[in-house]
Amino acid sequence: MNNWIEIDEAALAGNFHALQSTIGRATEILPVIKSNAYGHGAEVCAQALVRAGAGWLGVTCAAEGARIRKLLGNSPTQILVMCGPLPDDAATLHEDCLTPTIWTTQHVDWLAETPMPVHVEVDTGMGRQGVRAGAELAELLDKMKAANLTLDGIFTHFTSTEDFASPLTQRQEALFEQAVAQVRDLGLKPKYVHAGNSSTVDNPAQETPWLETLAATVGARAMVRPGIALYGYALPIDGSGTPHVQPSLKPVMTWKATALSVSELKPGETVGYNATFTAAAPMRTALLPVGYADGLRRELSSTNEKPGGWVIIHGQRAPILGRVSMNLTVVDVTRIPDVQPGDHAIVLGDGITADDHARLARTISYEILCGIHPCG
Ligand SMILES: *Cc1c(COP(=O)(O)O)cnc(C)c1O
Repeated sequence: MNNWIEIDEAALAGNFHALQSTIGRATEILPVIKSNAYGHGAEVCAQALVRAGAGWLGVTCAAEGARIRKLLGNSPTQILVMCGPLPDDAATLHEDCLTPTIWTTQHVDWLAETPMPVHVEVDTGMGRQGVRAGAELAELLDKMKAANLTLDGIFTHFTSTEDFASPLTQRQEALFEQAVAQVRDLGLKPKYVHAGNSSTVDNPAQETPWLETLAATVGARAMVRPGIALYGYALPIDGSGTPHVQPSLKPVMTWKATALSVSELKPGETVGYNATFTAAAPMRTALLPVGYADGLRRELSSTNEKPGGWVIIHGQRAPILGRVSMNLTVVDVTRIPDVQPGDHAIVLGDGITADDHARLARTISYEILCGIHPCG
C-alpha cells in the first residue's frame, strides 16, 4: 500500500471513557462521527464507540446515517443526522430509523408523511441552523404536533466554547433556557436536552450541572456532543484554568506511507516543482507516495530558507524537501541510516500531531484530520 491510516480503537474507547468520566454519568454522550469520523472512518469508529457504550451517534447526513445503520444491524443505537434534511431524505430517515435535526415549518411539511421522532435545533447565536426561541419556536412546535412529529430532543450549539467564561456562551445559555421553558410550558416531554461540544467538556469554566438542571425542568436527560476530543485532539482553552480532559486524550489516527525509492542528491541538485530546495552538500532522500491528493497539506512544503513539515522514519525525523506534490513527497534521510525502499514512514502520529500540520497550514486540527483520505 502506498499510504494508509491505522485506527487505535483502544485509544478511541479510552477518549470516550475520559469524556464520560469528566462529564459524569448523569449526562449522556453523543459521539460525533460526522464527516467520516473526522477522517478516521465512520464505520470502524461507529462500531468501536458502540462497543465502548455509546447509545447515540451523530452523523452528517441521511446517506451517512443509512450506511452506519446498515453496519450496526439491529443495535438499539440512535443516530442523529446533524445537518438539516432535504425533501427527499424522508424515506431514508424513516426506513433506517434516523433522527433528523429540524428547525423550520418546511421541514415539518417534508417529513409529515412519515411520523418520526425529531430533534429541534434552537439557534442561540450560531446563525446557521436553528429556530429562534419565542414565536418561531411556538409555531414550529404547533405544526409538529399537527403532523405527529414527536419532539424527542431539543438542542443548541455554542459558538465559543473554547473561550474561558465566554459571555457569548452565557447569552446562548439564557436563550436556550427560554426555549426549554417554552417546551415545558406546553407540557411537552422531550427525552433529551443537549448542548456542548468537546471544548464544553474540556473548558474548566463550564459547569455541567447547568445542563443537567435545565434538562430536569422537562424531565429529560442531558446530553453533550463531543467530536474532536474522541479522536484525541482539543482546541486550546483561551483564558485560564487547566483543561478537564485534554491531558488524558490520546490521538487515534496514525498515517503511514511506504518509501518507493531512496536516492542520492549531489550538491546543486534540486527537488520538486519550482526547485524550491537545492542541496548544498551530498544528501540522501526517500520518495514517499503521499501528497496533497491524500490530504498532506501543501503548506508543509519547504525551501532552503524555510523548513516545512516532517515525517518519522526508523524513529527519527525526516524533513520534507521542496514542494509536496499531488501524490509524491521527498524527505531528507541523510542522517537516518539504512533507509530502504519498502520502509514505512509515519506521516502523522508517533509524536507528529494534527496540530503540528495545522500550525504550518494555518488552520485547525479539525480541517487537517477530515482532509485526510489516503488514495491507497
Ligand atoms: C461538529 C459538531 C459538534 C462536535 O464538535 P467538536 O468541536 O468536534 O467537539 C457538536 N455539535 C454540533 C452541532 C456540531 O456541528
